[in-house]
Amino acid sequence: MQVIRIPVLTDNYIFLLHDHIKNIAAVVDPAIAEPVIEQLQQLDAKLVAIFNTHHHHDHVGGNQQLIKSFDNVVVYGGVEDRGRIPGQQVFLKEGDCVTVGNRTGVVFFVPGHTRAHIAYYFPATPTESGELFCGDTLFAGGCGRLFEGTPTQMLESLTKLQALPDDTRVWCAHEYTLNNLKFALTVDSNNPELKTRFTAAQAARSRNESTIPSDLGLEKRTNPFLRWNQPALQTAVDSSDPVQTFARLRGMKDRF
Ligand code: ZN
Ligand code: FE
Repeated sequence: MQVIRIPVLTDNYIFLLHDHIKNIAAVVDPAIAEPVIEQLQQLDAKLVAIFNTHHHHDHVGGNQQLIKSFDNVVVYGGVEDRGRIPGQQVFLKEGDCVTVGNRTGVVFFVPGHTRAHIAYYFPATPTESGELFCGDTLFAGGCGRLFEGTPTQMLESLTKLQALPDDTRVWCAHEYTLNNLKFALTVDSNNPELKTRFTAAQAARSRNESTIPSDLGLEKRTNPFLRWNQPALQTAVDSSDPVQTFARLRGMKDRF
């Protein structure tokens, strides 16, 4: 399964999951349809599935046009998003499976950004890497805003994702990395790997390159929203309680 990254709108990413043996594809969070259709035409591949992580327009805006453009596209989303995702036919809960060609993905229920948010995780195979499509839950260097969920929920959701293998590729839905890392440096300034990461991200962005995918090991070591248990972060927000540390970090980032 090849993952093709399609940058759209200001800073969104759509991901096309292409199985070259069957020549079919699934798309994750199609904000808009046209670039997805163009990419599918270039591949001469047939779209069979839309995997939505949550109902926000910049993640589902292309659903209807894609449904019209291809026969028998199945639209997947979280069960709690019932009524909020255009064309949704499959209502997924934690532990449910989805397939793309020979790869099987498992669903995580990760509320926080929205109350219904899900993530799709395709475990590594002997020849292919593990892929995590986490929408607006975990970002490179950050996490999503809490629009419908509580800090406790988001912390639990991120903890689930954090348990996955370090070499998992993290495909988040926005290019927010540089600003996230700028904030991270304000609360974790003595983290050498964070400084190195920031410099690398700055260089990549100045060349107009994407910082996505990230990898989960790097997130565990440099993302403040996965490091609420570290003394440096707890000192920065003057708390020793995990939820309070997380909530204060999120609040500071909201105002950053
Ligand atoms: Zn969103
Ligand atoms: Fe978004």
